[in-house]
Parts: sequence; C-alpha cells; structure tokens
Amino acid sequence: MNAISIDTDRCDGCKACVKACFVNVLRWDEAGRRPVVAHAEDCVHCNLCEINCRRECITVTPDFSHLRWSAL
Ligand code: SF4
Ligand code: SF4
Repeated sequence: MNAISIDTDRCDGCKACVKACFVNVLRWDEAGRRPVVAHAEDCVHCNLCEINCRRECITVTPDFSHLRWSAL
C-alpha cells in the first residue's frame, strides 16, 4: 500500500490536496482543520496532492512490493 504523509504543522489548511485527490484518499477533518488520509489503499500514486500543495507538506511513497521484477 502506498504511504501518504502530511506535515500538519506546515499545512495551512488550503484544502487543495483534498480537492486534487480524485479517488478520495484524502478527506477534510473539519474539527482539526487539516486533511487526513482516509483510504490509503485507494491511492493510485498520481502525485496530484503533492503537486497541488503549495506548502510542500505531502509526501507519497509508492509501494512496489506487489510487482514482480524480472531481468530479460
Ligand atoms: S497520490 Fe493521487 S491518489 Fe494518492 S493521495 Fe495523492 S492525489 Fe490521491
Ligand atoms: S494542499 Fe498542503 S497546505 Fe493545503 S491543505 Fe493540503 S497539505 Fe495542507
């Protein structure tokens, strides 16, 4: 599963990442006024959240462990 980390101290609560994530991995926590990772298992590693974060506080680390590599 891909890992998504959010630096909530650095985050200014603009919601751009939540709007950018078209598969709803990220949700808005109204109480905390910050984005939260709600469904990491649905992340497709498109990087739109990282690209749209002007504060550069999101890091998506892809998980390639399910892929089979072979040398031709
Ligand atoms: S990399 Fe794409 S799918 Fe994954 S959390 Fe970010 S916007 Fe959503
Ligand atoms: S785009 Fe960045 S600064 Fe804006 S809410 Fe998301 S994590 Fe916070």
